Amino acid sequence: MSSILVLPGDGIGPEIVDEALRVLKAAEKRFDLNIQLDHALVGGAAYDAEGDPLPESTLAKARAADAILFGSIGGPKWDNIERDKRPERGLLRLRSSLGLFANLRPAILFPQLAEASSLKPEVVSGLDILIVRELTGGIYFGQPRGIKEENGERVGFNTYVYSESEMKRIARVAFDLAMQRGKRVCSVDKANVLEVTELWKEVVTEEAKAYPEIELSHMYVDNAAMQLVRAPKQFDVIVTGNLFGDILSDEAAMLTGSIGMLPSASLDENRKGLYEPCHGSAPDIAGQGIANPLATIMSLAMLMRYSLQRDDVADAIEAAVEKVLDQGLRTGDIYTEGTRKVSTGEMGSAVAEALAGV
Ligand code: NAD
Repeated sequence: MSSILVLPGDGIGPEIVDEALRVLKAAEKRFDLNIQLDHALVGGAAYDAEGDPLPESTLAKARAADAILFGSIGGPKWDNIERDKRPERGLLRLRSSLGLFANLRPAILFPQLAEASSLKPEVVSGLDILIVRELTGGIYFGQPRGIKEENGERVGFNTYVYSESEMKRIARVAFDLAMQRGKRVCSVDKANVLEVTELWKEVVTEEAKAYPEIELSHMYVDNAAMQLVRAPKQFDVIVTGNLFGDILSDEAAMLTGSIGMLPSASLDENRKGLYEPCHGSAPDIAGQGIANPLATIMSLAMLMRYSLQRDDVADAIEAAVEKVLDQGLRTGDIYTEGTRKVSTGEMGSAVAEALAGV
């Protein structure tokens, strides 16, 4: 028995999570799955109900679950409340409380959607990159940090720090994942300037010795940023620290053209994970039934693959998504002339049907 905690959140969150659950139901019918579902509040919805974007009861359920399926949080309604109570704080606290140090952001471009990219279709069609970003360390968390007065002017400072053990564990995640894919890892650093990434490069190279089948390369972050728009298909898995990963994963994501298509996972040491679409709560379209549920549905596929070790179910969900795209179904954000515009619910139902039938 596996347990999944469902946290729909705010805005379009509940709409897109409903469709992922519809797909889960179809998966349960087709495969031998024994899943116990639980639900809880998070973000603005939790603040409204309990005065806290991450109530203790939600955190306790999250700790107990094998995996978490998360919608999205936030919205203008909560923009002006005290900082600590804002919806985003709930998500950050959830990630750090669960020790989710490995952020996985695939950038996949289905050939059917190649026209949606700002790059030439031949450069991006069939793109399949996985960016592995360290999520709980590096310059975003290093101490000391702050803004101080020095010699009559203000000085801002942060500390870029990684311990060897932090570097080793994220490298291992990248190598393990690459073994399930193309067996190539590119480690991104700035070793020509920053000592911390000089050590990063050394540690990653040492860790690679335990993975003789992996082809490891190294690239400076400025070059990686260029290569991602010049020839993105050269990459299989990219592993990097928090800051570089933040920027490169957004860059890679945008190669695919639509934010509504991008899933993500954040994993702990034991592959317990939080799975969520990369986009936010889209308050501008919430409640209209037009949001694209595919990023959340593909987050469910990642959950099956990484936390439940069910590659067969993950592959089938992804195949069902592809089938529906082949049939020409599109939500508004990925619509192009000659395709059929459908609602959130129609898209979810079509994927569930395709899953049941394939
Ligand atoms: P957003 O990602 O919510 O929306 C950006 C644009 O993309 C909007 O035009 C939106 O309509 C569109 N969009 C997003 N998801 C879509 C989908 N599935 N289908 C179709 N169109 C989609 O980013 P934003 O507008 O900057 O932020 C809105 C709120 O979301 C803010 O409160 C922000 O703090 C929050 N947010 C939450 C998360 C999260 O839950 N992890 C991430 C980012 C932003």
